[in-house]
Amino acid sequence: MAHGKTVGRDVMPGPLSIAIIGAGMGGLATAAALRRVGIDVTVYEQATQFARLGAGIQIGCNAMKVLRRLGLEDRLRGGSFYPRSWNNRDWSTGEVKFDMIFGESAEEKFGAPYLLAHRGDLHAALASAVPDECIRLGHRLTGLDQITDGSVRLVFANGATATADAVVAADGVHSVVRDMLFATAPVKFTGRIAYRTTYPATLLGGERIDDCTKWWGEDRHIVIYYVKPDRSELYFVTSQPEPDFRIESWSAKGDVGELRKSFEGFHPQVGQVLAACPDVHKWAIMDRDALPRWAEGNVTLLGDACHPMTPYMAQGAAMAIEDGAVLSRCLDGAERDGVADAFRRFEATRKERTTRVQETSRANTWLRGRTNADWVYGYDAWTVPLAA
Ligand code: FAD
Repeated sequence: MAHGKTVGRDVMPGPLSIAIIGAGMGGLATAAALRRVGIDVTVYEQATQFARLGAGIQIGCNAMKVLRRLGLEDRLRGGSFYPRSWNNRDWSTGEVKFDMIFGESAEEKFGAPYLLAHRGDLHAALASAVPDECIRLGHRLTGLDQITDGSVRLVFANGATATADAVVAADGVHSVVRDMLFATAPVKFTGRIAYRTTYPATLLGGERIDDCTKWWGEDRHIVIYYVKPDRSELYFVTSQPEPDFRIESWSAKGDVGELRKSFEGFHPQVGQVLAACPDVHKWAIMDRDALPRWAEGNVTLLGDACHPMTPYMAQGAAMAIEDGAVLSRCLDGAERDGVADAFRRFEATRKERTTRVQETSRANTWLRGRTNADWVYGYDAWTVPLAA
């Protein structure tokens, strides 16, 4: 099918134009990856500005391999913490259950470093890989139509409209595009919540904590790690039962007193971190089943929009970032009438892995005992064979 600008009597096929909905981790990584293969991208984001959310993020070696080729390795190494390991310890005795060694040996084995970052730093790095003129802030998608000529028309809450050859919906766990395309099963509340915060390490009064530790309790856990190379800032995230709180939002606040009470009796290092914590956010942990399909015609979902997961493997953003790399390979050289096939190939290449990570995450046993983590961190989205 010939599309493009008419110049004189000839039709010059312009580059494929793709609208990406959502400038989160997956949307920005995808934009940067698609630009590498000559695709014209515009990213539409509902927020009017990027906020620096108070959270840490583990950047697995598998995600780092993607980020390296997007040109972000030096920046991320320079601004993140390089842990010796992800240690797993008993909540009260401190006994080591399994110490997953990172550092140089893992870097050599898996082909990239394992880094611990401030979420805002990773997001800013990804945003730096996409020119400002490709990002439209303040554009909340409200409608989407696939037109018979193969293009897609978008409608936004601010009254703007746009047309693109195809759409990648990276609009996160509450994806409106997912709900427009498919009748999805209702969200399952796990009955658990996560408290999280970042704060300056000076508040610890000179005490130094372990690089990165998950403290495993009987029905709850807490993960604590540094997010800056000089250990100047730390982060923790918990998981614990709380049947009546159901707000899945990055901005909802929690009560520090209640949090401290719920971790009473934990190892003194946990007590120290919680005693020094000035403020905390609270997030209801939801779970969703894998979707039977990700794409419809020239529209595909990506990242949390199609495979959201519980945070227990610290791999949700990594999966969205890997998606971007694999999608760019599927679309490399595709004609306009080949986009739907490329989207199907993307789904066929990715689904088994993302479903396995979703299911493994749900079990919340990752690294609790001796674990072979090669299948997660050894994956390379740039070289993995694409589905036929
Ligand atoms: P998001 O990053 O959520 O981005 C979606 C974007 O779409 C947002 O910017 C949103 O504003 C925008 N949007 C939504 N609707 C619209 C609309 N209608 N129109 C326009 N824009 C819209 N992952 C890791 O890899 N490592 C970790 O250590 C880790 N820790 C986590 C800890 C917690 C407590 C939680 C909850 C998650 C954690 N994750 C982690 C998972 C990770 O945060 C997500 O998997 C990741 O953010 C998904 O990226 P995404 O681009 O799909 O969605």
